[in-house]
Amino acid sequence: MTVLRTEETEREAPSARRLGPDLQIAAEVVGADRVTPLPAGLGPNVSRYRSRAVAGVVRPRTAEEVRRLVELFADDDLAPLHAFSTGGNWGLGSREPARDGAVAVDLAGLDRIRALDTAGGWAVLEPGVTQASLAERLAGTGRMLNLTASSAHTSVVGNALDRGVGLRRQRVDDLAGLEVALPSGELIRVGWWPVPHMTTPVYAHGLGPSLLPLFVQSNLAVVTAAAVRLLPRPEALRVVRLDFRPEVLGQVAAEIRSWVSQGLARGVVKMYNEAAARAYGSPPGLHLAHVCVDGSRRAVDALTRIVTEEAAGSGLFQDVSSTDATDPDSPRHEVARLVERAYAGEPDAADVLFEAKTGASAARLDQDGGFLFFLPLVPFTGPALARADELLAQVRAETGIRCGSTANALDADVVDCVITIRFDRDDGAAVERAHRAHDRLHELFAADGFTPYRLGIEDADRADRPAPDPEARAFARRLKELVDPHCAIAPGRYA
Ligand SMILES: Cc1cc2nc3c(=O)[nH]c(=O)nc-3n(C[C@H](O)[C@H](O)[C@H](O)COP(=O)(O)OP(=O)(O)OC[C@H]3O[C@@H](n4cnc5c(N)ncnc54)[C@H](O)[C@@H]3O)c2cc1C
Repeated sequence: MTVLRTEETEREAPSARRLGPDLQIAAEVVGADRVTPLPAGLGPNVSRYRSRAVAGVVRPRTAEEVRRLVELFADDDLAPLHAFSTGGNWGLGSREPARDGAVAVDLAGLDRIRALDTAGGWAVLEPGVTQASLAERLAGTGRMLNLTASSAHTSVVGNALDRGVGLRRQRVDDLAGLEVALPSGELIRVGWWPVPHMTTPVYAHGLGPSLLPLFVQSNLAVVTAAAVRLLPRPEALRVVRLDFRPEVLGQVAAEIRSWVSQGLARGVVKMYNEAAARAYGSPPGLHLAHVCVDGSRRAVDALTRIVTEEAAGSGLFQDVSSTDATDPDSPRHEVARLVERAYAGEPDAADVLFEAKTGASAARLDQDGGFLFFLPLVPFTGPALARADELLAQVRAETGIRCGSTANALDADVVDCVITIRFDRDDGAAVERAHRAHDRLHELFAADGFTPYRLGIEDADRADRPAPDPEARAFARRLKELVDPHCAIAPGRYA
């Protein structure tokens, strides 16, 4: 079950419907009822990217069906394939392929948790397994999922394949192994994979060249399953909320960085600018930080005390609270409870925070919402984060657009910034202005060396620009030619 499909892709194809030659071949593999021609494309997307021409959508149910599709479509004469898991890649293109002319492969029907070992700390998941469904299986166990802040009904595998960021760490660090369907017709498993009746250590790199990373942000194969690491569930967890004024952003970043580098914080520290902080109940004019501490009860009590004392001692914060989630009288109680539960791996199946941020349900976002994402990496230093804020101010001065920004501290050295450009999707001038602001962000951040780590469907050519060595990009292209000579998989996506 997926809530992310539009009515158009959900519509069952009547057997009498005429399928073009590509879709006929797909129908022989998956059955005609799992193939839908889409002459009008995949439908609207939240970023108002141009709808690509697609022959239709194919909805396989098994890895073997995907393997066969990839093998057949590797033929020079057929359309390329564009695969997605649950298609919630909002702000970067949603379900759209990068180029026209593809057959879309909706993998939401591969939704089995094939194996789960809470003692060993891993699960084998198909692309259609959502955060909510895996978390439900883990409830009451000693393991938890590294959740993202996106909808509970998005795919664990799809997010990791785009190098998504969870509340505990980068999702790519959760990947132990991948099962991939190659244009050669092979279905191979790279990295670590469980061995029946044997306990083997979960270790993604294997021996020799590590193959797993080749299939992340990659158009070399279609991924049919992933072995995903599960985190030990902490005995206790708290999120400290800190409000601060925009003028002290650089100092706050330096202060919080010192906590991260000294091991006071666990998981990803988040710093929201005023526009992004609103959804978390922050008063106008203030930025917000969430610092998570976890571990044994005594460790959490001690760390909470240390963080709040350090915060008070710095004199940088307007307000510091570690009790919003437990104090029902706090005006931010409900939001804080949801935030704390999410850090603890318990998703909000009703998507309350998600809807507060986007103004629409996951099922309606592509029809009703309007936003673009820009996702640069920035060094975790006070001056670098203050500079990023200046660049947002420059874009506002040039375009009138006030961007939301969430800085996610991936470690003590690097921050992933999620910059959101909202617009009224029914106002053509506003859409044009938003896309102009998006281009400007790319230009301005790149000029300071703050390069993106994820790209939207119209930005493939930008993948070459920040490359420290163009020869490395050329090597990646040679690999593509070797593995997928007819460019059967996701042309133009990251390559
Ligand atoms: C309010 C809000 C909060 C968000 N919070 C976060 C967050 O905390 N962290 C974060 O990372 N993102 C976040 N996002 C962005 C996005 O919603 C998530 O990354 C989401 O998980 C992506 O959707 P999906 O899992 O359905 O992946 P999909 O859209 O299915 O896929 C993502 C990409 O991977 C490719 N792909 C997917 N599956 C396969 C496969 N099996 N084989 C080959 N290629 C494949 C797709 O072509 C696509 O390019 C947020 C978005 C919103 C609107």
